[in-house]
Amino acid sequence: MFSNIKCQKKAINSLKQLISAGKEAQSYLFYGPKGVGKLATAFEFAKAVNCPNQKNYDACDNCSSCIKIDHFTHPDINFIFPTPKFDVTTEGDFRKESEQIQVQNFIKQIKSTPFSRYKFSKATSIQIDTIRRLERKILFKPTEGKYHIIIITEADEMTRQAANAFLKTLEEPPPYAIIILTTTKFSSLLPTIISRCQKVRFNSITQDVIENHLIEEFNVDKAQARIISRISNGNMAKAILMSKEQQIETRDMALDFVEFIMNNDLEGIHNFSDNFIQNRNEEVLRDIFDFLVLWFGDLLYLSSNQSRIVNIDQMEKLQNFNQIRQLSNKEIQEIILLIEQSKNLLAGHINFELIVIDTFFQIYNKIYGD
Ligand SMILES: [Zn+2]
Repeated sequence: MFSNIKCQKKAINSLKQLISAGKEAQSYLFYGPKGVGKLATAFEFAKAVNCPNQKNYDACDNCSSCIKIDHFTHPDINFIFPTPKFDVTTEGDFRKESEQIQVQNFIKQIKSTPFSRYKFSKATSIQIDTIRRLERKILFKPTEGKYHIIIITEADEMTRQAANAFLKTLEEPPPYAIIILTTTKFSSLLPTIISRCQKVRFNSITQDVIENHLIEEFNVDKAQARIISRISNGNMAKAILMSKEQQIETRDMALDFVEFIMNNDLEGIHNFSDNFIQNRNEEVLRDIFDFLVLWFGDLLYLSSNQSRIVNIDQMEKLQNFNQIRQLSNKEIQEIILLIEQSKNLLAGHINFELIVIDTFFQIYNKIYGD
């Protein structure tokens, strides 16, 4: 039911209005920041329009259609997401068990923690073969439901060829098809795709909603929920992940780095970098970069707007940092930009070792001079 999604009233109301007025579009684009419930809403929408017991334009959650959609086993729900290039038959059957397991793990993770994503081992995209298989499948009427629902998450990851092929379906979908695209990168989509969809905007989730959700659904204690809700920056997925222990450790690691910087401890920074290069854990590195961006962002707010400080439990350290080396706003912004650029390089699978060394030592150099 839509009420399972606590934080997107506006988007959900506009969808319900469309259903109630009988004005369902055939193609939707759900866009907005990461981790705010776009995909979860897409599945609730799929349930609502296919549910035989639909009430107040919402799904019942109890019928076989709803249950199958919840379990990702409904034959008329076509869920497409970016993957590495897998070895599959024209029907989409896997030739390698190890690859099938990766896809199962992806779906398992969405089921258990809807806001988070399983990370594939290789670079991912939505490939033309996938779109072609989809086109063939929706030539046939739905077998159980009223509609074929096509959910394409991270639609911006369609390759150019895939997007062009998909345009055909989008131009003239069969009357029994509903297409829902989700994206965090609105502007990366082809304008021709955007213009053919009913656009539904999803907003960041407020800190209060995240805080309460962590307390109620994940039994996080109040003080910690408060810090996490601030650090997560409106991203529920991130907040949930952070409420698990490992993220607290990762943040501590980022704070260790800050400590080395504060102490002008070059050896510490060397060891810190070496550690990463040996372990090559991209995900942790990306999180550290996120935490560092927030840390330097907090330094900006220290003099201008303390209520926006995220690391509220680290006020003393922030103030100490500021005393040791008072950076100008421009210098801080340069450091944040540098870290953001490193994050992009990391996403592009550029030399890992180089990114680690470059980022950490460039931050050092910006602070202490070359
Ligand atoms: Zn139902």
